[in-house]
Amino acid sequence: MSDAHQPSPARRQAVTVLGATGSIGTSTLDVIARHPERYRVHALTAHRSREALLAQCRVHRPAVAVLAAEADAAWLRTQLAEAGLATEVRAGTEALVEVAEAGEVEVVMASIVGAAGLLPTLAAVRAGKRVLLANKEALVMSGALFMDAVARHGATLLPIDSEHNAIYQCLPVEHRGGLARHGVTQLLLTASGGPFRGWSPERLAAVTPEQACAHPNWSMGRKISVDSATLMNKGLELVEACWLFDARPEQVQVVVHPQSVIHSMAAYSDGSVIAQLGNPDMRTPIAYGLAWPERIEAGVEALDLFQVARLDFEAPDETAFPCLRLAREAMAAGGTAPAMLNAANEVAVEAFLAGRLAFTGIGELVARTCEALAVESADDLGTVLEADARARRWAMRRLGGE
Ligand code: NAD
Ligand code: MG
Repeated sequence: MSDAHQPSPARRQAVTVLGATGSIGTSTLDVIARHPERYRVHALTAHRSREALLAQCRVHRPAVAVLAAEADAAWLRTQLAEAGLATEVRAGTEALVEVAEAGEVEVVMASIVGAAGLLPTLAAVRAGKRVLLANKEALVMSGALFMDAVARHGATLLPIDSEHNAIYQCLPVEHRGGLARHGVTQLLLTASGGPFRGWSPERLAAVTPEQACAHPNWSMGRKISVDSATLMNKGLELVEACWLFDARPEQVQVVVHPQSVIHSMAAYSDGSVIAQLGNPDMRTPIAYGLAWPERIEAGVEALDLFQVARLDFEAPDETAFPCLRLAREAMAAGGTAPAMLNAANEVAVEAFLAGRLAFTGIGELVARTCEALAVESADDLGTVLEADARARRWAMRRLGGE
């Protein structure tokens, strides 16, 4: 403590990590731990993983920890007290919102999976924080509202999804006001193609959750792993790119690139295509978001191009993987369509992971739900949440009836 080179703790940025025990949350804490002079952890949150959250609290000593259920919070409180740690433990959505908007917090990592992340992420935006957005579902659901809130409340929104982070790095620093204004003609969104690239619909019908969760290049949570396997992840990312970069769906081209070395690209009117490359390790975009506009060490191995040797590109197969097309259609339909697409997909993925729906049933259920329900304009959060609930009910009824 008496070390003269040690900056005073007051100068360190306070970070809340929503979804700290997940794949992105864990990688975020890994990067933070490499820079104790720059960051301190204000709050860590998890859904039910109380043991993992306890272990993180022991290392990072947050002021607040949040779990979903009061019973889990009570357990964690006892454990922390026994360990002599002063972390306050809270439970429920309101607590998530509070740690996202707390006055002392400067940076919020939004890494809860799915629609559950919408309210706390939006709270961080409305509080004008630097928001590191991994939780793409939140933006897909509430696109216009979300981006309006970013502008209105002066939040700094930095994409953590590797593709969007790559595009962000390939665009001019100040890129508001539409792509054309900056000479950008197209965004090239790369996709690994997932573990079933090249498979026929017949083979896909028999895919198991274990196969779907074994991604060739990235190690991720189960929901996004299934989304990557169906290409719904790329569909959600297409919607995400439209909102983040003010692009029309036809300006975003999906390029299957099995090596996952180019994380995405921006094409310019003079013929230039700018790409961002790196090893597939989420600590790169996380470190970028934490330190922007500076650069910090992320623990990521340097890219060895001789080891990579070659980069391949192909068009996505939208017949075997209809989810990409469904997402593009939802974006074009606008209003509550992307929220309903996302909700139906969450229901379908959960059913698939529980062994109640075939892999190919995911796209079918999403398509039927989107066809069945009317699209409304998504002017307020209540309408978005109602559309989400309606699509979930419809999809679950349909599942039950099958
Ligand atoms: P994960 O399943 O590994 O972790 C999810 C985290 O959210 C956990 O801490 C979990 O406890 C918490 N959580 C889950 N349900 C919750 C709920 N209902 N309420 C509150 N908290 C809840 O997921 P992940 O792979 O880390 O992905 C997180 C988000 O980041 C997703 O939106 C995903 O699409 C996005 N993302 C992930 C990656 C990746 O490499 N993993 C890459 C790009 C984007
Ligand atoms: Mg991605």
